[in-house]
Amino acid sequence: MANIILPRALTTDDKVRLMEEDACFEIASDYDAEGINAAGRIRSRGAPPKIPKAFVASNCVFNCAYCGCRSSLTGERCGYVNDPRALARLAAGMAKENGHGVFVTSAIYKNADYTQELIAQTVRYMREEEHYHGFIHAKVMPGADPQLIAKTGSGADRLSVNIEVANSEGYARIAKQKNKNNILTPMADIAGQIASAKQSKERFAYSQTTQLMAGSTGEDDRTIMTLSRALYDKYRLKRVYYTAYRYNHDAQGYDKMPFVVTPYWRMARLYQADRLMQLYGFTPDDVTPQSDPFLQQDIDPKAAWALRHLDLYPVEINTADYETLLRVPGIGVTYAKKIIAARRYTVITHDILKQMRVALKRCRYFITCDGKYIADNLLDSPALRGCLVSGGEDMSISASLAESRACEISDKSDKVKITDIDI
Ligand code: SF4
Repeated sequence: MANIILPRALTTDDKVRLMEEDACFEIASDYDAEGINAAGRIRSRGAPPKIPKAFVASNCVFNCAYCGCRSSLTGERCGYVNDPRALARLAAGMAKENGHGVFVTSAIYKNADYTQELIAQTVRYMREEEHYHGFIHAKVMPGADPQLIAKTGSGADRLSVNIEVANSEGYARIAKQKNKNNILTPMADIAGQIASAKQSKERFAYSQTTQLMAGSTGEDDRTIMTLSRALYDKYRLKRVYYTAYRYNHDAQGYDKMPFVVTPYWRMARLYQADRLMQLYGFTPDDVTPQSDPFLQQDIDPKAAWALRHLDLYPVEINTADYETLLRVPGIGVTYAKKIIAARRYTVITHDILKQMRVALKRCRYFITCDGKYIADNLLDSPALRGCLVSGGEDMSISASLAESRACEISDKSDKVKITDIDI
C-alpha cells in the first residue's frame, strides 16, 4: 500500500482526495490493456473505468518492507477505524460519483479479524443504510476468520487476498509476518464459499482476485506464470494482478536488504503472457519454457513463441482452425473470430485481411492466403526476429501508464477486455 502519513487532522475532502491519490498507485488493474498498448501491441477499444479505494485504516501492525503502511514507518496516518458507518457513507458517495464501484480495503489494524470485521460492517452499511447497489470489491486480511470472510462476501461482489510473492520463502525476506498459510488459507476459503454460494444461490461475492509482486524474490517469469496458472486453476481466480516490486528505501527490520526496482516493461510482458494463458490457450511452458524462463523486453511472448516454433508456419488463413489462428502473431481473439466468420462467404485474400484491419504488417510472415505468401521468405531468415521486435515503441512504459494500471476497476470492463484484446 502506498504511504499516507498525515501531519494534521483531516477534513472529509482531504480524506477523499488522499484515497483517490492513493488509488492511483495501488493494486494492479483488472484491465491492463491501456498500459500494454505502449509496450506490445495489445489493443483495446477504450480506457478502463477505474474505481476509487476507501481505506478502513492505513496504520498496519505488520511490517512488510515494501509498504508505506508498515508498522516501522513513523508518523500519523489516515484512518477511519471504529467508524465503519462514516466510511460506508464516504465510500458509497465515492462509488456513486465514480459510477463503476469502489474498493474497500485496509492495512491490518490491531489484528486481521478486527480489521475484517470493520470491512464487513462497512460493506453492510453501504448496502443497507446507504442503499448502494453497485460494484464493491472488499479486501480480505491475511489469516482472516472464515466467518468474517463470509460476512464480508455476503455484501461484496469481489474479494481479494494478496499473495504478493512468487516463492513462499519470499515472505521471510520481505513480509515477515506473512506466510503461505495465512494467505492461501483465506484464498481457499473464499473459493469454497463462492462455489457453495453458487450452488445454494445465496448472495455472495462472485469473484476473487489476487496481487503478485514481480521481482520481489529474484524469481524468473516462468515461476510467476506457473504460480499464476496454479492459482487460476486451484482457487478459480478471476484475475492475477501483477505489480512491480519496488524497494528503494531502508525499512527497519530489513537491514542491508538490497534495493530493487522492477522495471515496468516486465509488468506489461507478464500481463500479455497472462492473457495468452487465459484467453488464447497458452500454457506456462508455452510463454516461459524452461530453456527461456524470462519474458523478453523487446518482443512479446506470442511472437517469441512463434519464433521458437517456426516449423508450424506459414498457416493457411482459409483453412486453419481457430486455435491455430490464435497462434499467429497479429491475429487475436477478435480477428480470429472475424476471419472464421468471413470464410463462410469468401476466400480470404491479403487484401481482404487489410480491409478487415487485421495487422497484416505483423502476421504476413506467418500466413498464406489462398496459397499466396507475401513476406519475401523472411520466415526462413534470421532477420525475422528484427521484424517482430517492439521497434519504435517505448518499452520502458511511462510511469503514468503503468500507474494507470494500478487502479481497481469494475467487472463490467472485463467483458470489454475479453472480446477486444488482440496480440
Ligand atoms: S500487511 Fe503488509 S502490505 Fe499489507 S498493509 Fe500491512 S504492511 Fe502493508
